[in-house]
Amino acid sequence: MAEKRKDLIKISSGEAEQPFRWSAGADGSKFLTEIRDHKRFMGIKCPKCGKVYVPIRRVCGPCYVEMEELVPVSDEGSIVTYTVVQFGFVDPSTGKQKPVPYCYAVIHLDGSDSYILHFVDETDPEKLKIGARVKAVFEDDDKRTGSLLDIKHFALLDQTG
Ligand SMILES: [Zn+2]
Repeated sequence: MAEKRKDLIKISSGEAEQPFRWSAGADGSKFLTEIRDHKRFMGIKCPKCGKVYVPIRRVCGPCYVEMEELVPVSDEGSIVTYTVVQFGFVDPSTGKQKPVPYCYAVIHLDGSDSYILHFVDETDPEKLKIGARVKAVFEDDDKRTGSLLDIKHFALLDQTG
């Protein structure tokens, strides 16, 4: 008869740190600066097809033309798809494990034709729905640094009104 195993062995790799820096580039810097300084999402509009891309990028892929016209887009939008993360892992942007559960969503901002990925501060499956309306919640003025984390998360808007 096999002996029941009571103790699970946990093996740890220890603490690891790998600091790194990279340039957000001219377009990425403009996008992040608008969020940091004005709590505003800026998109860029294709002169040929009229699509508005968020975050800003230099070239419209389908048209293969350079874009220059910056246009503000809403800080409100809708959930395209989402997941509620239940298994913790190290967040590369902080180097720390984000407490679980949390919601990570693909969000379509009003006035844009593309999507951004970010957190939604809800994990209740009864409240999370594809198409649910959300609004960006920004970090306080003295805490914004020019990072995507200057957006703390998106909050569900009241669906009853
Ligand atoms: Zn285009």
